[in-house]
Amino acid sequence: MIATHDRPMTDLFPPLETEIRRRITIAGPMPVMHYMTLCLTHPTLGYYVTNDPFGATGDFTTAPEISQMFGELIGLWAGSVWRQMGSPQPILLVELGPGRGSMMQDALRAAHVMPEFRAALSVHFVEVSPLLEKRQREFLGGLGVPFTWHTSIDDVPDGPAIILANEFFDSLPVHQAVMCADGWHERVIKIDENDKLRFSIARDPIPLFEQLLPRGMRPQIGEIFEWRADQTALELGRRVKRAEGAALVIDYGHAKSAPGETLQAVGKHQYVDPLVSPGLVDLTAHVDFQALAEAAESMGARAYGPIDQGEFLRRLGIEPRAIALKNTAPPSKVMEIDRALARLTGSGGRNMGQLFKAIGFGHPKLGPLPGFEP
Ligand code: SAH
Repeated sequence: MIATHDRPMTDLFPPLETEIRRRITIAGPMPVMHYMTLCLTHPTLGYYVTNDPFGATGDFTTAPEISQMFGELIGLWAGSVWRQMGSPQPILLVELGPGRGSMMQDALRAAHVMPEFRAALSVHFVEVSPLLEKRQREFLGGLGVPFTWHTSIDDVPDGPAIILANEFFDSLPVHQAVMCADGWHERVIKIDENDKLRFSIARDPIPLFEQLLPRGMRPQIGEIFEWRADQTALELGRRVKRAEGAALVIDYGHAKSAPGETLQAVGKHQYVDPLVSPGLVDLTAHVDFQALAEAAESMGARAYGPIDQGEFLRRLGIEPRAIALKNTAPPSKVMEIDRALARLTGSGGRNMGQLFKAIGFGHPKLGPLPGFEP
């Protein structure tokens, strides 16, 4: 029989934390990027692999979960972009990170007003989470449109495409580096003397890191710079160019690259310490729209925006849509529609209108995309 005090230490921590501690013990402090990757997409213990994070009982909510208006307007946006592209048949409607599938469901319903577009489209979801994929399959069956699932944008077939991504890029892992007197050091996570996970910095500076920084940036000692691997943005730009298509990315973040730490953890609608409960809470970081645009443009796409989400949705007609919905809604729902409109387009507090931004990418021959006209 094994006495209690002989039980392995690993039992003290939840499974993903045990795995992270094991790796740190073997390989040394873990870069923030690896930590975030494991927390979100570890194949069996990652947050997105084991959780349905949305809704009131979940950890956070997103624009499509707040109101049907969001997905409907995006659906109409895609339909008018399709016309701008010359109405190619077939057209791939690709969504990166569809979550519960609500945005696509609302988009496809709205697309009934453009039957030729709806008939020409096939939906391609890029989803890493088997759990969310299952939910999407259940939720979106029987809509009369072909659906295909992929785990990476690289696997989506070539051809004319419109790519959508709402709150997807913020969930891709970030690297962090800290400026020190002798240069930039990668930010890492170690186990401290009290046996807690703690932020630290790698011993040696990253060679030539300054050359990667956006021109003109004057960071101070102690400041943090975050960046993401470019693959997805490059692939998005490549597809937009090759297929003479377009893309729409909506997310929270900053229009210009700048130093600053934005890594955050959210569980049950509250901010929590990112190093407590790895794998059990959502981890995200702001999107650097300048870096995203530069990567996609380097592949031949043209970027439009970013503009504030509130402005973008107003230009697409969210206000008349809210009025139309209220006209047919029972009195109990009218206030809900007003609240949703304020949340999606307003600024300050929990409102998303200013914090979130929309950026469009198109083949240069298309000209400005709807909502991004000068
Ligand atoms: N767009 C949805 C969900 C946003 S949450 C909404 O607005 O409600 C992020 C989504 O991206 C989830 O579906 C998550 O499982 C997926 N995701 C996160 N990282 C991913 C990755 N590396 N590859 C593919 N999908 C990913």
